Amino acid sequence: MNGLIFFVSIWANLRIYTAAMGFQKKFTVLLCVCVALREIIRVQKLGKNHGGYHGQTIDIRAVLHDVKAAAQAHGWASEMFYKTGDLELLALHRKPEARSQKPEAGIYISTGIHGDEPAGPLAALKLIQENNWPPGTELWLLPCLNPSGFVLNSRESADGRDLNRDYRHLETAEVAAHIRWLERQANFDVTFCLHEDWESHGFYIYELNPDHRPSLAAKMIEAVARVCPIDLSPVIEGREAKGGIINPNLDPASRPQWPEAFWLVQYKTRRSYTLEAPSDFPLATRVNALVAGVNAALKS
Ligand SMILES: [Zn+2]
Repeated sequence: MNGLIFFVSIWANLRIYTAAMGFQKKFTVLLCVCVALREIIRVQKLGKNHGGYHGQTIDIRAVLHDVKAAAQAHGWASEMFYKTGDLELLALHRKPEARSQKPEAGIYISTGIHGDEPAGPLAALKLIQENNWPPGTELWLLPCLNPSGFVLNSRESADGRDLNRDYRHLETAEVAAHIRWLERQANFDVTFCLHEDWESHGFYIYELNPDHRPSLAAKMIEAVARVCPIDLSPVIEGREAKGGIINPNLDPASRPQWPEAFWLVQYKTRRSYTLEAPSDFPLATRVNALVAGVNAALKS
C-alpha cells in the first residue's frame, strides 16, 4: 500500500511540475524520473522471506561446472578435497601472475557453506570470470562448502548439520575435510567468507581483527553502498553494529560452537571478514554486493 501511495504522489507532483512545459522538455523529465524509479525498484526488498529464504535458487551442479571451466581458463589449479555422491567440495588455488612492487598477499575466499545462500557461489563464479585480481596476490577460493545443502535449498547439509557451527569440534565429514585441506596451506593475510542473511535490511560485515591491523571494512561498505543498501541498524543479529560493520568480541574459548571465521582467525589469519548480503533483495544485487566488497578490499 505504501508503494501505491508513493507512486500516486510522484505522478500527481509530476503533473503539476510539468504542466507548463513543452512536449520535449516534459518527455525528458519523465524519462529521467523513469530511470530513477527503475534504480529504486531494482534495490527494493522483495518481501518473499518469511521464516526463511524463499527467493531464487540455483542449480549448484551447473554453477560449479561453470566455476571449474572459468577457473581452468584463468590458470587456477583445482583440487577436490571431499566428495559426497557426485557433489564435490572444490578448492581453487592460483599463484601470483606477475611479480609486483608490493609484497605478495595471500587471499582466502570461501562461500556456499549455507545452502540457502545462492549469491555466494555466484559471486565466486563472477570473481573468477572477471579475473580482475590485483597483481601480487596469491589466491585460494572455495566456491561451495555445502553443495548437498544447495540441492535442498537448506542452510544445513543433507545430514541436517549447520556446517558453519562445526569448526570447533569437527564432527561433520565436510568440515573435517576442509580443516585437513586448510592445514596443508600457507597462512593468509586476509580471509573473506561470503554469506547471506535472509532477515537483514541491507548488507553488513563481521570483522575479526584482533591485532587491530588496518581495517578494510569501511572501504568495503563504501563500495557496496553503490550497488546495494547497507544495514545501518545499531544492533544486527543481537550484536552492536556501526555503519554496517560488526566487530564481535572475540573470545573463542567462551563459544561452544565455532563458525569457519573463528577457526581461520585462530590458526590461519589475523584479519577475517564475513560479508552478509541481504537475501530479500534481488539475487543480482546480492551478487554484485559480495563482488564489490571483495574487490574494494583487495584494491585497498
Ligand atoms: Zn550464511
